[in-house]
Amino acid sequence: MAHFDRFTVMEWIVFSLLSNCALYLLSIGLYIFIDRSCPKKKIQQEDFPITQSDIYLSFLTVLLNTIVMLLAVYLWKMGWIVIREFTTVFASIAEIICIIIVMDFLMFVFHYFAHLPVVYQLLHHKHHEHSSTNYLSLFVLHPFETLGFGLLMITLFLSYDFSLISISVYLFINLIWGTIGHLNREFFPSWADHLYLGTTKFHNKHHVNEGCNFGFYTTIWDRVFRTYKN
Ligand SMILES: [Zn+2]
Ligand SMILES: [Zn+2]
Repeated sequence: MAHFDRFTVMEWIVFSLLSNCALYLLSIGLYIFIDRSCPKKKIQQEDFPITQSDIYLSFLTVLLNTIVMLLAVYLWKMGWIVIREFTTVFASIAEIICIIIVMDFLMFVFHYFAHLPVVYQLLHHKHHEHSSTNYLSLFVLHPFETLGFGLLMITLFLSYDFSLISISVYLFINLIWGTIGHLNREFFPSWADHLYLGTTKFHNKHHVNEGCNFGFYTTIWDRVFRTYKN
């Protein structure tokens, strides 16, 4: 943390851009690796084709994520976001589970509202052009959706002083989950359903049937609000 404290504005901009580009490439690399090495058959017959406009939109998503990260850094510098440097393993695990469940609920609510006809036409239809998925689907979002997700996260980090390790692990899990959720092969073993985890099949079903499965990391909120379909 002391090292980050000495970063100049330009160093922060470069650091944020490079980290977000690295996460983008990691997601694509992981997607292709699992897709090529997983012996399970495809969920849908064809992957959604990669288009030039989706490639540009995915670059915009990376840029907006960079801006969100810089906003978080600014709020941290101003003392609005407080990040604890040291913590115990137990506290970290509890914090990560807590972030996942709260963010899952917030994303469920906002995703549900994104499917109201007006909002859907304005914002969310672009993601759903992907009737089946590909390695860019996670990044094919309306700019307001990307910013909205970032602001939800920032709001949570403003409301509680999480540790650096909890925030970092959560961001990593978020990327991996988003990548796995948009695969066209079921990554998870069948028992994952019983643990209420939001599996690949779970999110893929949302791309096919838009009236169900609004959750992301878990199926808890869809089960509570009766929008769950297996
Ligand atoms: Zn949706
Ligand atoms: Zn999706």
